[in-house]
Amino acid sequence: MATEEKDILRGGQFLVKETNCEDVFTPEDFSEEQNMMKESVMEFNDREIIAHKARFEAKDYALTEEVMRKAGEMGFLSVAVPEAYGGMGMGFVSTVLTCDYISSGTGSFSTAFGAHTGIGTMPITLYGTEEQKQKYVPKLASGEWFGAYCLTEPGAGSDANSGKTTAELSADGKSYKINGQKMWISNAGFCSLMIVFARIEDDKNITGFIVEYDDENPNGITLGEEEHKLGIRASSTRQVFFNDTVVPVENMLAGRGEGFKIAMNALNVGRIKLAAACLDSQRRILTTAVEYATERKQFKTPIADFGAIKTKLAEMAANAYAGESATYRAAKNIEDRIAMREAAGNTHQEAELKGVEEYAIECSILKVAVSEDVQASADEGIQIFGGMGFSEDTPMEAAWRDARIARIYEGTNEINRMLCVGMLVKKAMKGHVDLLGPAQKVQEELMGIPSFETPDYSELFSEEKAMIAKLKKAFLMVAGGAVQKFGPQLEEHQQLLIAAADILIEIYMAESAILRTEKNAKRFGEDTQSAQIAMAKLYLYHAVDIVEEKGKESIISFAEGDEQRMMLMGLKRFTKYTNYPDIVDLRIEIAEKVKAEKKYCF
Ligand SMILES: Cc1cc2nc3c(=O)[nH]c(=O)nc-3n(C[C@H](O)[C@H](O)[C@H](O)COP(=O)(O)OP(=O)(O)OC[C@H]3O[C@@H](n4cnc5c(N)ncnc54)[C@H](O)[C@@H]3O)c2cc1C
Repeated sequence: MATEEKDILRGGQFLVKETNCEDVFTPEDFSEEQNMMKESVMEFNDREIIAHKARFEAKDYALTEEVMRKAGEMGFLSVAVPEAYGGMGMGFVSTVLTCDYISSGTGSFSTAFGAHTGIGTMPITLYGTEEQKQKYVPKLASGEWFGAYCLTEPGAGSDANSGKTTAELSADGKSYKINGQKMWISNAGFCSLMIVFARIEDDKNITGFIVEYDDENPNGITLGEEEHKLGIRASSTRQVFFNDTVVPVENMLAGRGEGFKIAMNALNVGRIKLAAACLDSQRRILTTAVEYATERKQFKTPIADFGAIKTKLAEMAANAYAGESATYRAAKNIEDRIAMREAAGNTHQEAELKGVEEYAIECSILKVAVSEDVQASADEGIQIFGGMGFSEDTPMEAAWRDARIARIYEGTNEINRMLCVGMLVKKAMKGHVDLLGPAQKVQEELMGIPSFETPDYSELFSEEKAMIAKLKKAFLMVAGGAVQKFGPQLEEHQQLLIAAADILIEIYMAESAILRTEKNAKRFGEDTQSAQIAMAKLYLYHAVDIVEEKGKESIISFAEGDEQRMMLMGLKRFTKYTNYPDIVDLRIEIAEKVKAEKKYCF
């Protein structure tokens, strides 16, 4: 039965509506088919990617292409592609799952895979005409052709709509001539198709084109040398030059001037997939770290027995767990919204487009949070390995270098932080998410007398859920105050936007970890979830600290006198525990579990 609109939270609504744990999807909800897919992808990763890690690190670009082709033979490139165009037509969760489990072997393959299946293919499945889809998508889905996405230019990075590449209509009106230079193009070295963004005349917005590339008949396209990068060394990254490249008019994507919209929507999908692509790396880093830490002895003791190392193992596990919880929660929301729109009569294409767009806020949140967690995890992984961690002979070094790019591409983390708050404010203004009502209630609460009753927090997560509700109030107070003070000029106050984004991110991540654990505790028994409960509590504890710090700096920056004092008191109230968790004990419990299983085991 199709899910009803009322049952699914809209994007950003998590902030103002309580979510029941039964309504979140968790990795423990994978269907049999999804679990089979997961096993198959993991087996492929072990056999085809991890086994050849040294060759990837030695910049063996041909290997990346070869393994991509094998991924195509296995059907992994076509998971998200509708059956009508040669794909498997699996749902959004399965797409995310594939990105997750295929990505931990090396960032090189993960980038090639993401660039092809995401930004290289999605613009056509989402915006292509029937003819374009019939002509190109089956080739991309099978791996006969690989796709690249040419948006960035030397002068147009974050400001993606400012590109100088031009598209000029021919006198007979049958084709466009593309001229310009693109930079940092993943898969450029082995692609047969490029999604190219160019400007027609003085248009405000760029336009998207499907451009075929054949090195034997290059049509004015030349490639720069492979870039020498910090990480993802076997991911082909080149400049692409267009010199009078002729593209038939029928290869324009969507309409003239629609390119910026296409670029942004392709990136929304790319962002949640990128978050997923950082998850299995975190699992694998933790597993490798705990294996080493239980074997490596100093002072006649396995280093995993030292509190200092346990802290790291526990924090790494908790971050990975929260990342998984939030990524699959959002993935299922997107899948459900797509199904709902299809049931309401939208084509799959329209439904997918709108479904993903709806959760653009969550996609940005995930991109930022998970890309930073994987980097932190790899960093601590190196620390656990000590001097050996600094050596190319151990996997941590490459994991750390590979993780770094995730904070830069698919929109830098600065841009994504500002985007998630900006989009939320816009949604509120459009009436899609009612922030105003709840924000006013918070203001009234601030003026009122606080309750001095001691609540009953005996039930699992009752205090944590109350805390999440309070953190949401803290966000509404800070963001609401900032909007009131600056109005549309808020976008010029980047430090404030970034602080608000940090609060928003922590709320979503912590809430997701709690809801997943609560759901599992209810159905599998609390005793089976002891370490997971500890991880959810540990994650929340840090989240509360961040909300307090970011809230304080924000309030001080825009409020003065009595108003400032009232808001700071409110912040204190909204971040106060009745019973502080003993995070030292929580960390020990998590670390002991990971040590006993010698792997990320959740
Ligand atoms: C390995 C690799 C692969 C890539 N693959 C592709 C690809 O396949 N296709 C493609 O089109 N692009 C690709 N990119 C490009 C990538 O998307 C850009 O590098 C990214 O968007 C940032 O642009 P930039 O490098 O020009 O940095 P800039 O935009 O110059 O940013 C520099 C710094 O300034 C900050 N900044 C910029 N604008 C603002 C602002 N308004 N407010 C606050 N801070 C700001 C940024 O956050 C960043 O910290 C790739 C890049 C790399 C390194």
